Amino acid sequence: MKVRPRDDIALMAGYHSPQLDVAVRLNTNESPLPPPAAFTEAVAAATRSVVWNRYPDRQAAELRARIAARHGVAADQVFAANGSNEVLQCLLLAYGGPGRSAAVFEPTYALHSHLARITGTSVVEGVRGDDFIVEPGEATALIGSARPAVTFLCSPNNPSGTVEPRSVVSSLLDAVGATSGLLCVDEAYAEFSPHSALELVDDETPVVVTRTYSKTWAMAGARLGYLIGPEWVVAELEKVALPYHLDALKQAVGLVALDYVDEMQARVDAIVAERNRLSDRLGGLPVDVWPSGANFVLIRPRHRDGAEVWQQLVDRSVLVRNCSSWPRLDGCLRVTVGTPEEDDRFLAAIEEILA
Ligand SMILES: *Cc1c(COP(=O)(O)O)cnc(C)c1O
Repeated sequence: MKVRPRDDIALMAGYHSPQLDVAVRLNTNESPLPPPAAFTEAVAAATRSVVWNRYPDRQAAELRARIAARHGVAADQVFAANGSNEVLQCLLLAYGGPGRSAAVFEPTYALHSHLARITGTSVVEGVRGDDFIVEPGEATALIGSARPAVTFLCSPNNPSGTVEPRSVVSSLLDAVGATSGLLCVDEAYAEFSPHSALELVDDETPVVVTRTYSKTWAMAGARLGYLIGPEWVVAELEKVALPYHLDALKQAVGLVALDYVDEMQARVDAIVAERNRLSDRLGGLPVDVWPSGANFVLIRPRHRDGAEVWQQLVDRSVLVRNCSSWPRLDGCLRVTVGTPEEDDRFLAAIEEILA
């Protein structure tokens, strides 16, 4: 006989992102290009100096210091973990939990509400307008009445690509400040976008910003992410993270990556240029295209069923993310920016499908 888990976990669906065997994979917002060969060589060298028989530096002091230097903050304002998903989980373990709530603005990154529920945090849902920008008046009213412990703002927003105007971020910050909550700006795609909330971070302000190595740094395989925030937040996160959660090799790899900032920036610039080309080309087709500040573009075929178009793309060995049945995203597909060759294959396929 099976043993029953927690009732709420038993009812949960889990997080799914189908991985099919296709020629062109534009479904998970990864970098289409790996880090440079010199990085791989440097990682190989770093591997040889890992002290395998000892536990790693629990504080990840060197890595945090280097990340801090990159962003012009103090090392004790940086918390690193196994992907920004683990950062978010730690945030909810420390600030969420039974009797507390987290606010999200749908449609947005599914992991925010998913991790909230796993940690026993109730979820309060606000909605975005048709342009997918958060409406400050509604958001302030929601925060004022629900008084969430944590308010998530994903900017650029996954899956819409929307960059929140600075005025929206500061309205939300005022609202959480008035209700003793914390604002978490998920900036997984920050380097692809024109501005960041990082400049708002200091030890007096209840805002944290999360970043990841998965997209910009072309290191989704490494699972590394971090948070920049007040040192009093970082101190609480360290209490809930498992001891030695960041292994020695990962700390070394995270440091090596930071030696290749110029290469990262060149990759990001190329992807942004390619994103703009992709959006322009899609603009000439019978699809709605939303402006994106990320490495993906959200589209909605106008006179066709989204799920059907998705399947016809798969039939042509092109995989994009099928968002067509997600709330508020009726008929939508999310397309990750690939290499120019991959994007051309996608464009040729969708042009044929919609012809
Ligand atoms: C991809 C993504 C992440 C990254 O998660 P990792 O665990 O760092 O790979 C975080 N937030 C958003 C909105 C994302 O799209």
